[in-house]
Amino acid sequence: MNRALTTLAFGASLFASLAGSAHAAPEVSLARFECGTPQEPQAVNPRFSDTYSYGDLKLQFVYSCYLIKHGDEYMLWDTGHAMTMPKVAPKVSLVDLLAKIDLKPDQIKYVGISHYHADHTGQIASFPKATLLIGAREWDAISAPKPAEGVNFKPFESWIKGESKVEPQTLDKDVFGDGTVMLLRTPGHTPGHSSLLVKLPQMGPVILSGDAVHFRENYDSDGVPSFNYDRAQTVASIERIKKIASNLKATLIIQHDARDIEKLPVFPAFAK
Ligand SMILES: [Zn+2]
Repeated sequence: MNRALTTLAFGASLFASLAGSAHAAPEVSLARFECGTPQEPQAVNPRFSDTYSYGDLKLQFVYSCYLIKHGDEYMLWDTGHAMTMPKVAPKVSLVDLLAKIDLKPDQIKYVGISHYHADHTGQIASFPKATLLIGAREWDAISAPKPAEGVNFKPFESWIKGESKVEPQTLDKDVFGDGTVMLLRTPGHTPGHSSLLVKLPQMGPVILSGDAVHFRENYDSDGVPSFNYDRAQTVASIERIKKIASNLKATLIIQHDARDIEKLPVFPAFAK
């Protein structure tokens, strides 16, 4: 091999190894927690449809929150019901669930919150070291001098006082800067509602609904609960999720739908 070729070959292998290390993205995995105790099946008309779409349909709602592992960093998505909630309180707290995989609350870097309702925010006070990622309109409602009814502001005291960090989002947020975990703007259920896109290496992209939809029939028929903040935004957000799911061939997981639990392995197993 002459000198020029040797240099070329060396350069090529050096480039290959540099490119290799640059592309060694942190591994991403996802686990589901039971974050409330399901109650008896309930009639979904008219509370979950402002067009009386579901006849006598009765469904059992579940309460889900999620843990995303990104390399050595952890993010929680929603925090379920408070342990003090009558009837629907979780059987095991998030802190105790995390302890099963030797994680301490202070190791959670981010807590993403889909929206301000009590069944998604109940245990956030256990994670004051985490940076809160939340839609700006949700944060405005939580930190308002007199929060409106239905805004579960109390567990956010540490963030409201400025003792914990919050990053309110007006656009989508690329959480780890590599496109693997995206907070998606999906307003309508509440003013600043978000969903979460998690790109898993084996399972592929997963969309965690928040309450952009509450159950499958809701998603299929663009159903709007009668207590939603804004009808047009709700329908537009469902349309957005459907397009993302179709374009990315993503799996939608509806957080309150018991039939979607089996899409992820049972904790402490993680989907990869
Ligand atoms: Zn909910």
